[in-house]
Amino acid sequence: MSVDNMDNSSTMSDKKAVKAAMKKEAEKLGISYEELKKQKKRKSSKSEADRLIDEEHKKEISRMRTYSKDLDADKSGGTKTDDEGNIVKRRRTRSMDKAEEDQALVAEEKKLSPDEWRKEHTLTLRGHGANSSSTSFPAPYIEFRDTPFSDRIQSALTGAGFARPTPIQAQAWPLAVEGKDLISIAKTGSGKTCGFLLPVFHHHQQATGGQFQRGFTKPILLVLAPTRELSVQILEEAQKFGRPLGIRSVCCYGGSSKFPQIQALERGVECIIACPGRLNDLIEMKKVDLSNIKYLVLDEADRMLDMGFEPQIRSIVEKTPKIRQTLLFSATWPKEIQRLAHDFLKDPIQINVGEVDALVANKDIKQTIVMVEEDEKLEKLESILKELTEEAQEDKGKTGDSNHVAGGGKAHAKIIVFVAKKISCHNLANKLWDDGFAVDALHGDRPQWERSKVMQAFKAGTLRMLIATDVAARGLDVKDVGVVVNFDMPAGVNAVEDYVHRIGRTGRAGAKGKAYTFFTKGDKKSATQLVEVLSKAGQEIPAELQAMARPRFGGNRFGGGGGGYSRGRGGGGGGRGYMSGGGGGYGRGFVGRSAGRGGFSRGRGGGRGGRGRF
Ligand code: ADP
Repeated sequence: MSVDNMDNSSTMSDKKAVKAAMKKEAEKLGISYEELKKQKKRKSSKSEADRLIDEEHKKEISRMRTYSKDLDADKSGGTKTDDEGNIVKRRRTRSMDKAEEDQALVAEEKKLSPDEWRKEHTLTLRGHGANSSSTSFPAPYIEFRDTPFSDRIQSALTGAGFARPTPIQAQAWPLAVEGKDLISIAKTGSGKTCGFLLPVFHHHQQATGGQFQRGFTKPILLVLAPTRELSVQILEEAQKFGRPLGIRSVCCYGGSSKFPQIQALERGVECIIACPGRLNDLIEMKKVDLSNIKYLVLDEADRMLDMGFEPQIRSIVEKTPKIRQTLLFSATWPKEIQRLAHDFLKDPIQINVGEVDALVANKDIKQTIVMVEEDEKLEKLESILKELTEEAQEDKGKTGDSNHVAGGGKAHAKIIVFVAKKISCHNLANKLWDDGFAVDALHGDRPQWERSKVMQAFKAGTLRMLIATDVAARGLDVKDVGVVVNFDMPAGVNAVEDYVHRIGRTGRAGAKGKAYTFFTKGDKKSATQLVEVLSKAGQEIPAELQAMARPRFGGNRFGGGGGGYSRGRGGGGGGRGYMSGGGGGYGRGFVGRSAGRGGFSRGRGGGRGGRGRF
């Protein structure tokens, strides 16, 4: 017998043996041999899929185990070696992939001329006053290495996990470093805060030779911002980047004790971040000296005017020296802001990111307009929330994601629901809580410490559903908000601008987001502008909404006056539900309550100075 035949016959007998064994097994299981065969086939095809996954996994591991060639060299270009002279190589990691991708992007962008780069980023520049005929502007800093910033600032930037400047930073930095007054019109989440802080820190470092100041000193930088939340966020950024440079900052906002703010001012700070109302109080108490301010920043200037802060702003700016650098940031460019810029800035350069004169919503946000009657809103909201929590549940099932909220609930995307009034904010939060959703509320009637606690929980992710009024949530920088729901469409002359701001809470720093807006017949006045925003961002427009919109005949929509900021009445009885006291965090997803309910305390908390510079 040939070897082949021997093989064949042994294979045949193996097969027979397997068949016999299977027949026995089928008999035992009480099923037919054919049925068992089918079952095994199903199983084996499943393991085939698993094997494929394993293959992918193995490939990934082997890719990760390859060594990075480009990182073998140390900074001087030599090869890194250990004590015994062996070449030290580094394992490839995912962040290396990301870094390589970033480097490739930077290399591509560096091939562009400054004008091409600006076009690529829909960024336009124009000068005012003496600069109105300027056509040449400094080139953007495409990577951190292009900036004149010190190593300390550069390492703070990379330490913060930033790969390269955002477009607004890339263009604002060289202008601000040259000492130009600046107007920047850009959407929220575009990195404006570092855009204005770092050039100022750079100048200060140069002026002091990098020496840390000790004891009392008059502040050199004043940042005015509309809300406490935004001020606190700016403070965090100012501390992150300023501390390593010895720059001390204080944040002055209303609704909390003046005492610690005064103490910090008396100890000495270089940088004051303040809401206009509180700063004005402190100036009247003679606790702040603005006579050495060299840099003035007006952040979210449009919002400050909406909130009626113009008289305070003018009175504050009057107390700063006329020789200073002024930077004005705004998401929109209405007439009132143009007037303010005209009065406070000298021959500024204006940077527009995106189309100015148009309300540009971030295209990374999927905007859904839900046409509803007032009394259908709650039901619609609950169905959206349920869908989102169920989606998360399915995803979790698929991926085995262990990320979940305390108490065993599911980690759905972070959601902010905007409502018009403080009282409805409170009531809606209670109602949703009673219906099984783990929510909390952020509104102006809650004391500051409660608001801070809610913000912290939302940032940390233990709270994933927030019901908020505009003022409270203004500037709230939470990186991973997945969904914004406008339970009430904003009202007033600036309704659609507010809409753009609200939905800008999601889709930040390049992430994708979803926005749902409940639109009633009562919101008809905003239909025309809203349709325009939706169509510019390439979003679906419900026929009913389209029918409410008037055809436009040109003109500037920003001509309207300020105001339009709905201040909700105080109130809200009882303070039960989401504000109930007790330990624990937000111990539930929407389904299945857990023991740790609440965690938040019961009850409720309660001129002109224009300088005509261009
Ligand atoms: P804006 O003031 O324009 O609304 P922020 O300054 O608050 O935006 O920035 C939005 C987020 O982007 C913040 O979390 C900030 O830390 C982050 N960020 C800022 N600069 C960069 C950068 N160069 N790369 C990546 N993220 C950045």
